[in-house]
Amino acid sequence: MEDLAQRVALSPAARIAVIGAGYAGMAAAVELAAGGARVTVFEAAPGPGGRARRVVSRGQALDNGQHILVGAYRELLALMRRVGADPERSLLRLPLELRYARGFRLRAPRLRAPMHLAAALLSARGLPWRERLRAMRFMRAMRRAGFRLASDETVSALLARHAQDGIAARYLWGPLCVAALNTLPQQASANAFLAVLRDSLGGARAASDLLLPRVDLSSLFPEPAGRYVAARGSEVLTGRRVRGVARDGDAFRVEGARFERVVLACAPYQLAALASALPELAPLLRAADRYTYQPIYTCYLQYPQAVQLPAPMLGLDGGLVQWAFDRGTLTGERGRIACVISAQGDHQQMAHGELAGRCHQELARALGGLPAPLWSRVIAEKRATVATLPGVPRPGPETPLAGLYLAGDYTDPEYPPTLEAAVRSGLRAAACALRSV
Ligand SMILES: Cc1cc2nc3c(=O)[nH]c(=O)nc-3n(C[C@H](O)[C@H](O)[C@H](O)COP(=O)(O)OP(=O)(O)OC[C@H]3O[C@@H](n4cnc5c(N)ncnc54)[C@H](O)[C@@H]3O)c2cc1C
Repeated sequence: MEDLAQRVALSPAARIAVIGAGYAGMAAAVELAAGGARVTVFEAAPGPGGRARRVVSRGQALDNGQHILVGAYRELLALMRRVGADPERSLLRLPLELRYARGFRLRAPRLRAPMHLAAALLSARGLPWRERLRAMRFMRAMRRAGFRLASDETVSALLARHAQDGIAARYLWGPLCVAALNTLPQQASANAFLAVLRDSLGGARAASDLLLPRVDLSSLFPEPAGRYVAARGSEVLTGRRVRGVARDGDAFRVEGARFERVVLACAPYQLAALASALPELAPLLRAADRYTYQPIYTCYLQYPQAVQLPAPMLGLDGGLVQWAFDRGTLTGERGRIACVISAQGDHQQMAHGELAGRCHQELARALGGLPAPLWSRVIAEKRATVATLPGVPRPGPETPLAGLYLAGDYTDPEYPPTLEAAVRSGLRAAACALRSV
């Protein structure tokens, strides 16, 4: 601690503490370091990445959950380039394809927008003609409305008003909602859903591309970001849980050192532990207390190396598993399938062994048979994201305390809690901090 206080005291540049080395905190750190600030990132965990990180489970290196990116993740992709984490190498770019093991299949051809979407809907397999036309009318109506409702409602209500209640709701809009918002359509915010539609299906063709990580989630951005800030005289201190932030005149005290600015880049439920000595933040903490959370479960099934899925990402229907990912194709982990279950459901009551058995059965049924898995792991992220509900206000980067800013996926004014929302929030908090010094 003395070491840190001494180093910080000697630094002539603006001294800024970032608390949390998730995607939001690391985005803030990169922007601040590039802007000439001297940054210290504090991270409680042994490594950076937060809710998108590499973990080791009984000797196996795994991601804490399978993640999907889309071409619309503009800020994250730009930041990856900036820190030398080449997205072309570390992400597999595929034209949007929602392919189910049986029946439904929608694929966006490499045409200019919005032709790619029209062609995808018109050629979708398993979608009756009248639904294809209705889905196109729905997208046109949303485009005319600027992908925004004056009064927010649930995604289910929006879909019902536009007669999107058949196959399209089941295989297209519903799964998109759960994948992007991690909230069931009957609860999810239509405006957050529309922001995703605007920037993906409603945007340029490349924005709707699926980008599947070829490297683990720590190597994808947080670790290269750490090297980038270290090369600019800043530091990332891992295994350093901050016990509280206190005022120190017009600056702040964090772990015994003085900082002119602080960015709190942790999850909302982690704020209270940091801010107990900052009464000005009480309203913010009360608001954070009212958030509810949604889980994401990832079940890794390791089969013999020859086992493969017919596509890198395959939809499953009618059971617990929503999407299965072929880690052999993506990361070279041959025979390994990641099964993803987003949002709340009955699976939360199951023991991990039982759940892994169910995932195997569902996968075997979808593929017409599979050998028994060699091993399995279930990673349950119980508070994976805040629930994206209609009308729940987001705090943004500013707080009632001058010099103290918020970052984190839950702070974005319109985007659901995703990697892109986290990165955008980090950039916004950094811009506020840089402007103010
Ligand atoms: C299983 C799973 C699957 C997901 N799938 C997708 C997906 O497919 N696509 C997508 O875009 N998004 C997905 N997400 C969401 C995405 O991972 C998050 O939106 C994003 O990682 C949040 O980043 P963040 O920086 O805001 O918060 P976090 O990652 O939570 O970072 C906060 C950090 O602060 C640290 N911290 C907290 N308190 C302290 C303290 N007192 N001192 C020091 N450090 C502290 C924490 O350890 C943590 O590292 C998924 C999330 C999960 C869990």
